[in-house]
Amino acid sequence: MRYILVLLLTTLLSCSEEGDHEGKIITINGPVNPSELGKTLAHEHVLVDFAGAANYHPENYDHRDALKKILPELLKLETYGVKTLVECTPLFVGRDVKLLKQLADSTGMHILTNTGFYGAQSNKFIPEHVLEMPAEDIAEFYIAEFEQGIEGTGIKPGFIKTAVNRTPLSKFHQTLIRAAAIAHKSTGLPIMAHTGPAIAAFEELEILKEEGVSPKAFIWTHASDEKDWGNLVKAAQMGAWVSLDKYGWNEKHLEGDALVYLKDQGVLDRILVSHDAGWYDPSQPGNEFKPYTNIFQLLIPNLKAKGFNEEDINQLLISNPAKAFTVGKRLINNSN
Ligand SMILES: [Zn+2]
Repeated sequence: MRYILVLLLTTLLSCSEEGDHEGKIITINGPVNPSELGKTLAHEHVLVDFAGAANYHPENYDHRDALKKILPELLKLETYGVKTLVECTPLFVGRDVKLLKQLADSTGMHILTNTGFYGAQSNKFIPEHVLEMPAEDIAEFYIAEFEQGIEGTGIKPGFIKTAVNRTPLSKFHQTLIRAAAIAHKSTGLPIMAHTGPAIAAFEELEILKEEGVSPKAFIWTHASDEKDWGNLVKAAQMGAWVSLDKYGWNEKHLEGDALVYLKDQGVLDRILVSHDAGWYDPSQPGNEFKPYTNIFQLLIPNLKAKGFNEEDINQLLISNPAKAFTVGKRLINNSN
């Protein structure tokens, strides 16, 4: 009897699984309501391994040493009321969901992880067999991670992370974007694409359009590298999320002028901000760890001096990420 009950319960749970995530945000510790996300850093890293797919050994580092370096950096965020960190390190670049779970459990923070292949740096992080795969097969892998969890842990991705070179898209990078679009149509996971300049971003949006996926599903990542801010406005007006995520790296950006311009243009409701900072590097464990604090210590005071109010700041750090990372199919002619 007990066995039958368990079986019934398991079947019921797995049947309703996809529907359950609609309208939620998927963290390392399961789905939460968007209102629970709170202050969010939308693009950071805790661990990055630059060895490349051919030399990748995921367990080949000292976990205790990594925790010792990363944990205090996350704890610093308590002072600023940060509740959520979106960890953007993909598979074969150092994604380690067990480490992320330990960090989430030790800090009480929500942490999001991802599914997806990272094609930037000329496919160094892509296993050879993946280069030959059609978009549908790549998408199938992403969908399997969403439905079954990552590497047998049951931990699910909260978004799709992919990456292309900062140029017109190669054939394989077009395939990566198409795969993300196909997986979005099945899972409703938002698509975060490491992109850089507008030339690649608008090509990506064109591929999404061919697949019937709305720009609202798309996070133009590293948009801070685009020199013509008019292009940021254009993408935002199309409905894309525009991610200004280099605040850990660029002192000039911290003056906040791009954000002042975007506010003047009326598109602050499509903008995400973050540091792209961190991280523990297994090949160079002694490396400097860039903190996730510039936004609070430098950017926000500059923005306030230039006319931003508390509501604007909360839009960037609370309401925009909560909308961007909510699971839901965003299809063309669909108002989601
Ligand atoms: Zn990054």
